Amino acid sequence: MTPKSLHPDSLAVHAGRDDLAELGVHALPLDLSSTNPLPGIDVGGLSYEVLATGGHPFEGGSHVYARLWNPTVARFEEALARLEHAEEAVAFSSGMAAVTAVLLALSHEQGKRHVVAVRPLYGGTDHLLASGLLGVEATYCTPDAVASAVRPDTALVILESPANPTLELVDIRAVVAAAGDVPVLVDNTFATPVLQHPLDLGAAISLHSATKYLGGHGDVVGGVVACDAQTAAALRRTRAITGAIMHPLAAYLLHRGLTTLPVRLRAQQEGARMVARWLTTRPEVARVHFPEFAECDPNGLVGSQQSGPGAMIAVELADGFDAASELTAAVELFTHAVSLGSVDSLIQHPAALTHRPVQSEAKPSDALVRLSIGLESPDDLIADLEQAFARSRVLSHQA
Ligand SMILES: *Cc1c(COP(=O)(O)O)cnc(C)c1O
Repeated sequence: MTPKSLHPDSLAVHAGRDDLAELGVHALPLDLSSTNPLPGIDVGGLSYEVLATGGHPFEGGSHVYARLWNPTVARFEEALARLEHAEEAVAFSSGMAAVTAVLLALSHEQGKRHVVAVRPLYGGTDHLLASGLLGVEATYCTPDAVASAVRPDTALVILESPANPTLELVDIRAVVAAAGDVPVLVDNTFATPVLQHPLDLGAAISLHSATKYLGGHGDVVGGVVACDAQTAAALRRTRAITGAIMHPLAAYLLHRGLTTLPVRLRAQQEGARMVARWLTTRPEVARVHFPEFAECDPNGLVGSQQSGPGAMIAVELADGFDAASELTAAVELFTHAVSLGSVDSLIQHPAALTHRPVQSEAKPSDALVRLSIGLESPDDLIADLEQAFARSRVLSHQA
């Protein structure tokens, strides 16, 4: 085991690699086997039993089948668990597969079918809860209404901080206190373990769309849940039954991505600071949502709950939807695309795209665009927005 005292930056480089020297390799091994040799029917059958019910492989046993266990996935899980200060982690084929597994596992384990959901949430999560597809009933509320929304049959409280897309910050400790015995899930996709450790703040579960900052290069879809060992076993059991395990190639890329996560995030955050400050000076902009600005952080959570503002910005344009539409069409260095957390900068319109399925009362403003700041020079990003604003003005005058 790598020493417990390692700085998080060192941990990001070394976690999940303790046995590599012993194996005689330096890079992460990638095991693509869909099936595995069985030492005998008895041991094979026992291995199947243990893995399908959420256990770990045992000495002399088999991994049996890649839907039950994959060593490359397990290695990424071990690394992510250490970064999140969790006992274990369980990786899924996407962020939504991870949310689905948590809802299924927790409601089933406890025989409870109610979830309290603090809005705003990512549109897909909001939609999954509203759909009733999983037989779970959701009560949506604001952070201060969690205590009154919790019922005897509440299996989970779910929140995001910073939340997608408005970057609202939720006081995690306060929600944990309000939830009482009910486990709290924090979607940590925007903050990442570089800025925030939900389990240290009392949350039971920290969840990621690994597609975003953990992968960081826009070439992987995945999800991962960090939690205690008992919850992890329930999640692996659910994963084995429903078939939502992460692909080993995705786990390999994500594990490789973790090594640069701290430097990427800090550099992207620096760029976001400069872009966000510049945006506040522009007449085209009505409001900039960025956690570093005092009006976006009334409870002073940046510095106490999360160590920095992150690299996401939401912008309300003075001229509403038309201006948003023109801006997304006029940028050249930014890519007009959903998703976030990549090394390249992205811009998108949440109400039309990522938050399209959200019920009208909770939909983000039509004037809002969301920026994910990448690793380009902030000066180039600002120049791109500047030319885009100038061109949009031309476009709007022509119209
Ligand atoms: C993208 C996203 C998800 C869903 O993850 P996928 O990997 O797209 O399935 C969940 N939560 C947040 C905050 C996200 O941004």
